[in-house]
Amino acid sequence: MKAAVLHQPEDLRIEDTKQPQAGPGELLLEVKACGVCGTDRRVYLGTKSRGIHFPCVIGHEIAGVVVECGTGQQAFQTGDRVAVVPVIPCGSCAYCIRGLDNICLNRTAIGYEFDGGFQEYMKVPTAALQVGNVVKIPEQLSFDEAALIEPFACCVNGNQRSNIPPGGTVVIAGAGPIGLMHLKLAKAVGAANIIVSEPSPQRRDWADQMGADLIIDPQEDDLHQIVMDQTDGLGADSAILAIGVAPLVSQLARLLRKGGTLNLFAGFPEDAEANITCNLIHYGQINITGSASASRQHFRQAIALIASGKIVIDDLITNRFPLNQIHDALDMMARGQGLKGIMLPA
Ligand SMILES: [Zn+2]
Ligand SMILES: [Zn+2]
Repeated sequence: MKAAVLHQPEDLRIEDTKQPQAGPGELLLEVKACGVCGTDRRVYLGTKSRGIHFPCVIGHEIAGVVVECGTGQQAFQTGDRVAVVPVIPCGSCAYCIRGLDNICLNRTAIGYEFDGGFQEYMKVPTAALQVGNVVKIPEQLSFDEAALIEPFACCVNGNQRSNIPPGGTVVIAGAGPIGLMHLKLAKAVGAANIIVSEPSPQRRDWADQMGADLIIDPQEDDLHQIVMDQTDGLGADSAILAIGVAPLVSQLARLLRKGGTLNLFAGFPEDAEANITCNLIHYGQINITGSASASRQHFRQAIALIASGKIVIDDLITNRFPLNQIHDALDMMARGQGLKGIMLPA
């Protein structure tokens, strides 16, 4: 079978490898679609290395079909269409006990510690199956859509930590696939006024097509003034940082109304720091939250939102790549072109 094997940073090769077999309790999936994400590019470049061993197969936004069940594996049958939650929680650390399995202290992940989805067949380890990380997907979900469940589930987590009130005003900084998922979620939870800030004209167009109420170019327009004009001088209820630019933290915090919430959704460079006026938090009673990854519960909520038709997600997919064009897919991330790219191995 074909696999994209990462031998070391920037050394990714398409190779013929031996098809894995499902051991006791394991599953073998035929990968039908695997999302290509900014994190994959950071692993490829070597700027993200936690949990990575070489050689390895990355790719953590995985949808596929069960083609082999290891002995003792009774929860699944061959032919089942599934999506995979990549983060495998330990189940027993202080955070898992509180239901925060996305920030488990002992987490491992498929696409990091375990080989991921940029290959034709992928083995699902027992550790993932034991904690419910393989989820059957409803009939009406395509594999393409199923490959977007993982990033969308992360956005469900971020959305819940943004405290968007029905009828509220939300500011979203960044209209890449993640910012646009936040746009769709904000609409779904009843935000009345969604303001998107994005420097790329093409992405501003997409934000418009996907229903943003107001779209601004931060290089031309005064976001702060516009938000104040839109909210009778009070400010936004919620702001979501969907791009890892540290100076934006204080800028977004300043356009919240009292009691508002800023969610730091995007990851930042390792040593990024932000200056923020303390009294803005104190007198403004504002909340600053973070969100990292997604729990198994967020994953199931994401599936339900897509399957019910409440959220249309496949319009975010602009590029489909065969496995042997994985380099082009990673380049696309670098150029910020298109929106979401998915890899289709077969
Ligand atoms: Zn991802
Ligand atoms: Zn844990």
